[in-house]
Amino acid sequence: MRTDAMTDEDIKSILAHNIASVRRRMAAACRRVGRPDDDVTLVAVTKYVANRIAQWLVNEGVHDLGESRPQELWRKADTVRGNVFWHLIGHLQRNKIDRTLPLTTLIHSVDSERLLIALNEWGRNNQRIVNVLIEANVSGESAKTGMIVTDVAALAKLMRSLEHVRLRGLMTMAALQDAEACRPTFRRLRQLKVELETQLATILDDLSMGMTNDFEVAIEEGATIVRLGSCLFEGLVEDDLKA
Ligand SMILES: *Cc1c(COP(=O)(O)O)cnc(C)c1O
Repeated sequence: MRTDAMTDEDIKSILAHNIASVRRRMAAACRRVGRPDDDVTLVAVTKYVANRIAQWLVNEGVHDLGESRPQELWRKADTVRGNVFWHLIGHLQRNKIDRTLPLTTLIHSVDSERLLIALNEWGRNNQRIVNVLIEANVSGESAKTGMIVTDVAALAKLMRSLEHVRLRGLMTMAALQDAEACRPTFRRLRQLKVELETQLATILDDLSMGMTNDFEVAIEEGATIVRLGSCLFEGLVEDDLKA
């Protein structure tokens, strides 16, 4: 049995410290490539933690939260209070669209034409525009999720016919490796965005790329959204996070 349990106040102060440190690192990465300090949105990934920890992140001023599983997003969105924008960063099954869409600001992980068409249908039926990113597999065999690059490039025609979906950009997950080794993946995603912009004759706002291991490199390569979990919870153990 654990005898050194942290108090809530200890946990909150570690969270505040981690958030400040991550924001400083984000700002420094922006500055290195001549971007404004606050150019990048931090999405705090809450899949590792209990509701109350997610709530404390919001209380500390982190307003964008990400979940990879729809059911977990529903559960947290039901209890976390305040000004919160929820991001779905993992696979969305079509039978979960109805419950997920009303809660979600941005779907990062659209990985098929079928899903795009289903999201458009939901948007039409509910008089809403659905904001999406296409998840692209640009790192090759090592990534298990996302659309292959040639399929992404072929989406432009379909996108033009979907009036209730707004494509805001692209998302990717780099292979889990040394941050510098992820740079070509991030660069490739940015290129792919430019190709798509040309085809669609429109500007896409967002590149969602960068996790704990590689977010500074992702920002140097143009990320507008980073999705960070582990680095926000450093110094806390499973018992603190899940309780
Ligand atoms: C878990 C997860 C993250 C956060 O990863 P960390 O390495 O803990 O920062 C980001 N994006 C996706 C899609 C995830 O599933």
